[in-house]
Amino acid sequence: MIEELMNPWIRNLVPYSSARNEFSGNADVFLDANESWEGFDEGVNRYPDPSASLLRRKIEEVMGFPYQMTGIGNGSDEIIDILIRIFCRPEKDKIMIERPTYGTYSVFANTSGVGVVDVPLLPSLDLDVESVIDMVKKEKPKIVFICSPNNPTGRVYPLSEVKKIADENEGITVVDEAYADFAEDFESAFSLIAGNPRVCVLRTFSKAYGAAGARLGILIASGEIQKVFSKVKPPYNVSYPSLLAGMKALDGKKSVDKRIGEVRERRKDLSSFLSKLPYVRKVFPSSANFVLVRTLDASALYEYLLSKGIVVRNRSSEPLLENTLRITIGSESEMDRLKEALCEWKDY
Ligand SMILES: *Cc1c(COP(=O)(O)O)cnc(C)c1O
Repeated sequence: MIEELMNPWIRNLVPYSSARNEFSGNADVFLDANESWEGFDEGVNRYPDPSASLLRRKIEEVMGFPYQMTGIGNGSDEIIDILIRIFCRPEKDKIMIERPTYGTYSVFANTSGVGVVDVPLLPSLDLDVESVIDMVKKEKPKIVFICSPNNPTGRVYPLSEVKKIADENEGITVVDEAYADFAEDFESAFSLIAGNPRVCVLRTFSKAYGAAGARLGILIASGEIQKVFSKVKPPYNVSYPSLLAGMKALDGKKSVDKRIGEVRERRKDLSSFLSKLPYVRKVFPSSANFVLVRTLDASALYEYLLSKGIVVRNRSSEPLLENTLRITIGSESEMDRLKEALCEWKDY
């Protein structure tokens, strides 16, 4: 059934067969891949494992996602791009998003000539479940993207709503859970896959795991989707240094958990600090490692903070988000610098 959703040329794809894929058995002389016998650093002279199996075993151990249900991308961004290329025919198919949300879904759709249907969030920044379902039925998107906790709003959508949409959607539903670790009492859409194999979940090493520079994203999906993902992704999409970085990040799960605790504490602290400032109109409750805030003149505040050497994200041009800034939770001293600057601002 999922196969019918795939583009015809993907269904019949003969994947590139890499040297490492063709060999099985025991060997210790590798003259099959035209690599160098030595390199500038241990291990980098060899091509990396196309299936990232050591990292995936550790992911199962530490995060609990079964080995058979994971695939690794060069960041979640690569996974988003590949899923669109698997399921959406250029100039024919569409994806669906609920704006304001993460920008890459529509950019990758656009680069593949795939249309984008946007169902705006409610003014409360909650999902407009009824409209999403109406539009799913009318527009028949091949992929519906749901970002929860959502970037840039920080809002978690109830799993029951995500399930309802995924069940009504005859195409693929991708739930991007990049910020899941920062949410409290979070219910992952992972639990939906067993009952609905058209659901995919995205996780990343870029946020709580502190490895944005390694470019590691995780696709959690049914075997049928994993099989085609591994055929379509570039054979050596994740570098050896990145795989090592991912292993290291998982080994340091204790410090990840510590950081998550610090983010939650500072998020609460920053939110209450912001809400007391005379030029702040609204602080949006957040389940992520950032706080979205509405101010009197967001662009003026943005420029002022920049003049103090502090960069935040101006989200004011997004629908429903006029005069808002998105502020990432940083270190304690970074938060102190920010708060000091915010106290001193008088030009509102
Ligand atoms: C940061 C972020 C990601 C992470 O992307 P990577 O390519 O893994 O770094 C994914 N989704 C959302 C919504 C994000 O904000």
